[in-house]
Amino acid sequence: MAAIPIDGTALARTLREGFRDRVTALAAAGHQPGLAVLLVGGDPASQVYVRNKVNACAAAGLLSERISLPADTGPEVLLARIRELNADPRIHGILVQLPLPRHFDETAVLDAVAPDKDVDGFHPENVGALVQGRARFIPCTPYGVLRMLEHAGVNPAGQEAVVIGRSNIVGKPMALLLTARDATVTVCHSRTRDLRCHTRRADLLVVATGRPRMVTGDMLKPGAVVIDVGINRGADGKLCGDVDYESCREVASRITPVPGGVGPMTITMLLENTIVAAERRAGIRS
Ligand code: NAD
Repeated sequence: MAAIPIDGTALARTLREGFRDRVTALAAAGHQPGLAVLLVGGDPASQVYVRNKVNACAAAGLLSERISLPADTGPEVLLARIRELNADPRIHGILVQLPLPRHFDETAVLDAVAPDKDVDGFHPENVGALVQGRARFIPCTPYGVLRMLEHAGVNPAGQEAVVIGRSNIVGKPMALLLTARDATVTVCHSRTRDLRCHTRRADLLVVATGRPRMVTGDMLKPGAVVIDVGINRGADGKLCGDVDYESCREVASRITPVPGGVGPMTITMLLENTIVAAERRAGIRS
């Protein structure tokens, strides 16, 4: 029997509707949640991501400030801009669109964002808090995956979970979050010797490699829940994930499509984190 898709677009819509009351309550207290998005250079994919984030803010009633800097901007200029935003009371969340041009030290740039405005959850202080199970901001993509699992009634507790990918943005925080929810977690990566032997025993498989359609149905345990974080654009211009949807849906019990799966949830959790930051500033939550 074919797997039931987990519809990220529909869940994202429902969650964003729920944000309205919170934004209204903040407005009544004189606070409009504000997100600053910094983009350096003209990478076309990054421009699309930034536009989507700015549009999502506008639709949800958030203030958004898009700051576009030329590709040859010096690191000091970007750092100075971040310091200004750190001190700007209208701004509750700061996001630096990655990747930055090669002459930037990405770590130094992300470290410059004030931890209480770090809505991406990439600052080492926030990563440390996440490791200790007391996250201030959960990184948006793995947070979106957790919310999808919750919505689909999938409880990770006691399950064999396999995460393919160990990036700071997706794989590592995903593994931490699933561990905190009592899954038994294995992290696989490009140097894993026998990937299939791990995927074949996964009750829950999260794939974030950037390798189009690399996970195929024959690599799955029957009935597995499959979360595809990948976003790849094929030669035909169409989007596809890191999972081969057609073969995997024949074996899995639940599966996320691409597009329409994790992608819309990532932006939704960015809005959520920005609203949370504003609620903290307004003293509505701790
Ligand atoms: P990354 O390049 O930083 O990391 C990729 C990881 O995959 C690495 O840890 C690497 O070891 C592992 N890997 C690569 N090839 C592998 C292989 N053959 N076998 C096993 N492991 C392998 O990428 P990332 O930033 O984590 O992103 C991963 C994917 O998720 C990309 O397609 C990206 O576009 C997508 N992404 C989507 C969202 C979203 O909102 N849906 C957000 C972030 C990233």
